Amino acid sequence: MIPSVLPTYNRAPLSFERGEGSWLIEADGRRFLDLGAGIAVNALGHAHPALVQALTDQAGALWHVSNLYQIPQQQALADRLVEHSFADTVFFTNSGTEACELAVKMARKHFFDKGQPERVEILTYDGAFHGRSSAGIAAAGSEKMTRGFGPTLPGFVHLTWADHDATAAAITERTAAILIEPVQGEGGIRVLPDQCLKGLRDLCDQHGILLILDEVQCGVGRTGRLFAHEWAGVTPDIMMVAKGIGGGFPLGAVLATEAAAAGMTAGTHGSTYGGNPLGCAVGCAVIDHVADPAFLAEVNRKAGLLRQKLEGLVGAHPDIFEEVRGTGLMLGLKCKPANTDVVSAGYANQLITVPAADNVIRLLPPLTITEDDIAEALDRLDRTARQVKAA
Ligand SMILES: *Cc1c(COP(=O)(O)O)cnc(C)c1O
Repeated sequence: MIPSVLPTYNRAPLSFERGEGSWLIEADGRRFLDLGAGIAVNALGHAHPALVQALTDQAGALWHVSNLYQIPQQQALADRLVEHSFADTVFFTNSGTEACELAVKMARKHFFDKGQPERVEILTYDGAFHGRSSAGIAAAGSEKMTRGFGPTLPGFVHLTWADHDATAAAITERTAAILIEPVQGEGGIRVLPDQCLKGLRDLCDQHGILLILDEVQCGVGRTGRLFAHEWAGVTPDIMMVAKGIGGGFPLGAVLATEAAAAGMTAGTHGSTYGGNPLGCAVGCAVIDHVADPAFLAEVNRKAGLLRQKLEGLVGAHPDIFEEVRGTGLMLGLKCKPANTDVVSAGYANQLITVPAADNVIRLLPPLTITEDDIAEALDRLDRTARQVKAA
């Protein structure tokens, strides 16, 4: 008999009752150190007082009105994002894949309105993940995500990741945009080198096409800058954000330049819940913390510390771990045994990590993780490695 919850997930036999900072607590009181943060969502950890306050204050005042009316919290969050980024304008969604839907529509509409309706193709890369909507799975293009789901949304060209020449050769008069994650998350914590991102920006400028960055996982302070592309010193035309921006409240956004967004006039797009007062009140509190240069400096300091300790761990367990990957607090350990075995052994040590492609385990702790918790994480990773070895 089918379970009452549609069984599309492989769930671990863990169930948490509450959270505190970097810790998740089961009903019986067992405490797990959370290096997953709900897949890079709980940017400020669990039950951060400022987020609890923002949510409960808003919950007592007004939950929902719809986008038929002005929403001051939405305006406030858009103003903050515009102030702190390349963007001139923002649309709010409830998830990352909805941000992908709009990014694709926006790029195509941009060229349609410019009298180039043939420019519909979007170049994407192997290992990419852009969510599970029809556009998201078509963009990623893998057999695993698209098989069995009928006609795949056309207009995506799939290329080899970080292959500049392949991208240059694929651009035609039908190309609208390049879509890429500055750091692949699901794909195994693969950091796109800065010169590759600069190269893509140059190609977009040369051909008059748009650069769309998917910062759903790597954005909002995760790499030690508010947005990951800042490290490369280039800006996109359109950017997708979600996960960390809501700190656990479902919230996403598409940020864009005025030129890229020109086609998105009244009536061309919408969302019932997107930009609702609850989500935007929380989003404002998240951005107020994460955009603070002192907060980002701390993220970088702790990222350096964690990375250094992880290099030591890999050195101590060369039969378990092949290398450390990633940047900031978006790190991965490439495993020699099956990554899922390492994640499971972590559970036995009350440690949460997240598997990714390429046999990697992801370490995506809350950006607020303390030095003590980093030390504890390394103890637990070390114990985990020993157990996997003994098994
Ligand atoms: C998680 C993720 C998405 C999809 O976000 P949802 O909120 O699950 O729809 C898209 N892109 C990237 C890079 C992601 O990590």
